[in-house]
Amino acid sequence: MANREQTSPAAARAEPELGFSSDNIAGASPEVIDALIACNAGQARPYGADELTARVERRFSELFEREVSVLLVPTGTAANALALAALTPPWGSVLCHRDSHVNNDECGAPEFFTGGAKLVTVEGAAAKIDASALRIAARAKVGDVHSTQPACVTITQATEVGSLYSVDEIAAIGEVCRASKLKVHMDGSRFANALVALGCTPAEMTWKAGVDVLSFGATKNGVPAAEAIVSFDPAVTRELAFRRKRAGHLFSKMRFLSAQIDAYLAGDLWLRNARQANAMALRLVQGLRGHAGIEVMGEPRANIVFCRLQQTLIETLLAQGFGFYHDRWGPGVVRLVTSFATTALDVDHLLEAVRLALGAADQGGHAA
Ligand SMILES: *Cc1c(COP(=O)(O)O)cnc(C)c1O
Repeated sequence: MANREQTSPAAARAEPELGFSSDNIAGASPEVIDALIACNAGQARPYGADELTARVERRFSELFEREVSVLLVPTGTAANALALAALTPPWGSVLCHRDSHVNNDECGAPEFFTGGAKLVTVEGAAAKIDASALRIAARAKVGDVHSTQPACVTITQATEVGSLYSVDEIAAIGEVCRASKLKVHMDGSRFANALVALGCTPAEMTWKAGVDVLSFGATKNGVPAAEAIVSFDPAVTRELAFRRKRAGHLFSKMRFLSAQIDAYLAGDLWLRNARQANAMALRLVQGLRGHAGIEVMGEPRANIVFCRLQQTLIETLLAQGFGFYHDRWGPGVVRLVTSFATTALDVDHLLEAVRLALGAADQGGHAA
């Protein structure tokens, strides 16, 4: 704690950070690290029967303006897979977007934890499920013993491309699901980024719009390793508890997970962190849009920016040590992600490198 300034990821740095590959390359907020150290003192009841865990549960109930159940887990994949398993029988299907994390980046964990349920993709622009397409998918082969049965829908907020579902769009999906008796799961790995961008309440973005179970992310926004499964449906809560233990995700020293989430929620740290990440993404977008040769793709609303850069610019930036994913989504397509720890210095440094590289390319062009 004496070294707090040095340990803060966003503390005044002389040297800019070069990484924009993801928001999980940042460290954690010093407040959370302090809380981890503080909770280490003394004894505490195990497996979530401790006072810190009870306080986290109360915090979530206040936050969501109703009684909710909270199950802490160490990864977002565990949160998603366990939540989906509680909402889907082995013969069911999980309706998700083609670009979703559950479909692309969880190594079959949803299929594994559900006992073999099928992921069925539903189309929609900007990585968002379209409610009309969902209406059709929700009715496909219902009652046909030869086909998996639509059981739940999972939406990602903010999405994997940095877009957002409006509250009305979530409610439209909730409405389709209610009519077809499907459950709704939200992958809120970047829940805070979406919330501050929309300016709505946690309740409005979830259960009031029809969400049954939420994966509430924290790791990407300032904690070392903790995510929360928040259940608005008492019927699935009991089941989730057994599923978590069976999956080996019930921490005996739960206080260490709870301390992270408790500090994350205290004093609106989670909202401040998300605002910083979003503001830095906006700064990046505004800077990139100033260049004729650069296309910012879609409408970034949270902390993920997709853009199209010339191959020479990509190579120049990589050679200078900047970090980002590229060419996974098509030639020249680059993903830049900011985090709570990203500073204006970091963003301006990258923008300056872009400006210099493009300037040099222009001069090269004239000379040739
Ligand atoms: C990062 C992420 C997760 C969780 O990933 P873990 O590495 O398992 O913590 C879930 N959903 C989305 C959209 C993500 O970006």
